[in-house]
Amino acid sequence: MLSIRYEAPASVGEAVALLDADEGAKVIAGGTDLLVQYRSGLREPTAFVDVKRIPDLMEISIDADGLVLGAATPAAEVFENTEIRQLWPGVAEATDLIGSTQIQGRATLGGNLCNSSPAADTVPALIAVGAQAVIAGPSGERELAVEDFVTGPGQNVLGRGEFLVKLRVPRPGPRTSDAYLRLIPRTEMDIAVVGAGVALTLDEGGTCTAARVAIGAVAPTALLVPDAAAALVGSSVDDAALAGAAQAASAAASPIDDKRGTVAYRRKVTGVLTQRAAAIAAERARER
Ligand SMILES: Cc1cc2nc3c(=O)[nH]c(=O)nc-3n(C[C@H](O)[C@H](O)[C@H](O)COP(=O)(O)OP(=O)(O)OC[C@H]3O[C@@H](n4cnc5c(N)ncnc54)[C@H](O)[C@@H]3O)c2cc1C
Repeated sequence: MLSIRYEAPASVGEAVALLDADEGAKVIAGGTDLLVQYRSGLREPTAFVDVKRIPDLMEISIDADGLVLGAATPAAEVFENTEIRQLWPGVAEATDLIGSTQIQGRATLGGNLCNSSPAADTVPALIAVGAQAVIAGPSGERELAVEDFVTGPGQNVLGRGEFLVKLRVPRPGPRTSDAYLRLIPRTEMDIAVVGAGVALTLDEGGTCTAARVAIGAVAPTALLVPDAAAALVGSSVDDAALAGAAQAASAAASPIDDKRGTVAYRRKVTGVLTQRAAAIAAERARER
């Protein structure tokens, strides 16, 4: 009979030591990806290292610098936090798209990122708002931009003994907001065919002074699209600028062709969702 150890470290240091000592050990947070993969034989870990007992991984703290979100905080707690919904509505709406109420009670944003699916919903939303990933490992802590975390489908920068401790999201300034949209072939419980996250800032006259555009499910990893952002900056986020952003996002996409959508369809939808997400983000920014 296959036996798998279950470990529940109480500190970051203890978790690093457990992961470093056993290459086959896997971090488990909500388990909504990992247990499905394990049951279908895709993964055979020697141990599950449950990180939900580590206080640093379960914190939500918001101050003048922004949000610190423990990597194992349940999605439901993130979405139910009224300050997160107000300050980062795009991240909140991406979080609320994960699975169902039951799934969101367990699933985490850390797990969504570390599972490293190209279609993960919160990843483009986090990239758009400039989130940073804080990683602990045998040589201490390091921090990098979320857009640099995933390196391919199911692959990321985490090395032996390393795991994700938290996400840091800078506090938005005045007239800054974000939005996330995705397309799925059914009304719920499906993975994105395309996802688009946009964050932008307007000046007092309504001109866009900064923007970040990220697209998901249309390349091996979620992508930051600087050309789409450039189409918005300097404009009043009018129809011409939105069309420019859409065109740039479609051009950056390199999707696969499968039963859920052709390459041409996914490219087209990438532009449409980028344009709509940018318009929503601009509307929200005008109200802030
Ligand atoms: C029915 C269903 C519907 C779903 N719908 C969606 C959806 O609409 N959108 C979407 O994006 N996803 C969806 N998912 C996928 C899944 O729920 C999410 O990816 C979720 O965010 C994963 O989080 P978790 O905490 O459960 O991760 P886990 O399953 O615990 O872990 C996932 C992977 O990340 C690693 N990991 C987790 N936390 C860390 C950490 N802190 N440091 C290092 N490695 C870590 C694990 O070792 C594992 O490899 C769905 C899943 C199910 C079962």
